[in-house]
Amino acid sequence: MTSPDELVFVPLGGLGEIGMNAALYGFGPPRSRKWILVDVGLGFAGEEGLPGVDLMFPDTRFIEGERQNLLAIFITHAHEDHIGALAELWPRLRVPVYATRFALGILEARRLGEPGAPKVELKEIAPGQRIAVGPFTVEYVPVAHSIPESNGLAIRSPLGLVVHTGDWKLDDTPFVGNTTSEAVFRRLGDEGILALVCDSTNVVREGRSPSESEVAKRLAEIIAASPARVAVTTFASNVARIRAVALAAQACGREVIAVGRAMDRVIEVARECGYLDGLPEFRPPDAYGYLPRDKVVALITGSQGEPRAALARIADDEHPEITLSKGDRVIFSSRAIPGNEKAIGRIVNMLVRQGIEILTDRHDLVHVSGHPRRDELAAMYRWTRPRIAVPAHGEDIHLAEHAAFARAQGVPEVVRARNGTVVRLAPGRAEIVDDVPVGRLYKDGDITIDSTERAVPERRKLAFAGLVSVAIALDRRGEVAGDPVIDIMGVPDKDRRGKPIADLLADTVGQVLDSLPKARRRDSEAVEDAVARAVRSAVNNVWGKRPACHVLVVEI
Ligand SMILES: [Zn+2]
Ligand SMILES: [Zn+2]
Repeated sequence: MTSPDELVFVPLGGLGEIGMNAALYGFGPPRSRKWILVDVGLGFAGEEGLPGVDLMFPDTRFIEGERQNLLAIFITHAHEDHIGALAELWPRLRVPVYATRFALGILEARRLGEPGAPKVELKEIAPGQRIAVGPFTVEYVPVAHSIPESNGLAIRSPLGLVVHTGDWKLDDTPFVGNTTSEAVFRRLGDEGILALVCDSTNVVREGRSPSESEVAKRLAEIIAASPARVAVTTFASNVARIRAVALAAQACGREVIAVGRAMDRVIEVARECGYLDGLPEFRPPDAYGYLPRDKVVALITGSQGEPRAALARIADDEHPEITLSKGDRVIFSSRAIPGNEKAIGRIVNMLVRQGIEILTDRHDLVHVSGHPRRDELAAMYRWTRPRIAVPAHGEDIHLAEHAAFARAQGVPEVVRARNGTVVRLAPGRAEIVDDVPVGRLYKDGDITIDSTERAVPERRKLAFAGLVSVAIALDRRGEVAGDPVIDIMGVPDKDRRGKPIADLLADTVGQVLDSLPKARRRDSEAVEDAVARAVRSAVNNVWGKRPACHVLVVEI
């Protein structure tokens, strides 16, 4: 007997966390499903307590095992939390990747900037276009968001239509890029939507988010009224904001200087796609020093406090070309991604100390989010009238609030999916029917490791309690040759009474060796074990912490 076809949704990342968006849709009987993957994003490790790790990727091992059944990857838009892991993970999947022209430009520009990056099989798709792959037909549905060419996906299957909103908001005057069309989403609603998988980012915020055009207007007023230099920091990918700043500068006779590699890259792609048409060329950073203070606007990267980005270097007075001084103004046309607050605060304080005026979205309308607030979400549910709501793209608190919100909108079935849950959308009532293995990958230097590997927890432990190294030479009869060598790292030099800890450990090691019968001393593993245990406990007695301890027995 053959089992019946099912339509399932399996998020691999982005549910219960910020970033790492990656979601599978599967069709077919449980043992032979065909899959499509929507987005392959990264996450920023920020303050997650992962020493030496900046970037995180979703763990794709489940779909790697099902690679022969994976038909294609669809990219909704070019934000890092949706495309950032593609170059890293594509070699494991090797299927065609569909994206719009702007996203393709960003992917290609990034590949060229990273020697050795794989050549991904990219296919251009236009907003509004449909592509049939296996049992699915995927339609790109334009939506407004904080980057050009953002799309929701209308995914049709023999068991029904799923609308995967991607990141979106309502904005009838987006300045650059798409609007979210009520008519299009109503048409989808009329067709009958089985499930709406929807952005939860701003579900805790009341009302409706302001338009990108209102931000542009305020930026123009602020820049025109500024007495000296103005630096605007924003996400490089926010082309509407770049355009707004450029127009504001032009209106008051200022030149625009773009600073930062990510900014250059996006500006180049945006120009190719026509999003900066009608604007004068920006000036290179080396022109900055020659321009009068009231004739310049610097557009700079680093709004998230990234220590190597332009803003941090300018604040530390370490940028080769760009300096700011008393009376200048820095506008944060951005919002902190959770986890980056401290790093941003450090830069803000540094600038304030130098007499530089700071403007953020707490002071004025200099930023607006690209995600829907409650009134916008309510409109989406009114237009689409789905049978099932699946909150996505958010931390647990957002997903929980969104689930309650969707119920309050009268959606008959609401599913609380998590990374790795297999949600059966059809046939029958929507429910979680299975789990697949998920997790995280860490970008550790040039190597990508599984989050369950020892390296990062070991480094965290070393950072907390340091390391003691002991080298002991033993001859064949088990006699100690010479004095053991002891080295401490990350452990205080002296105990509370002022006695050097290294001396104390020399005594400890001597006592352990003396106490071991000769026969035991010929077993180097037993010696290493006994010495390490004694050293850790001796340090704990005087310090209250147990360091790592490496004992190396050399047989001579
Ligand atoms: Zn986005
Ligand atoms: Zn996103």
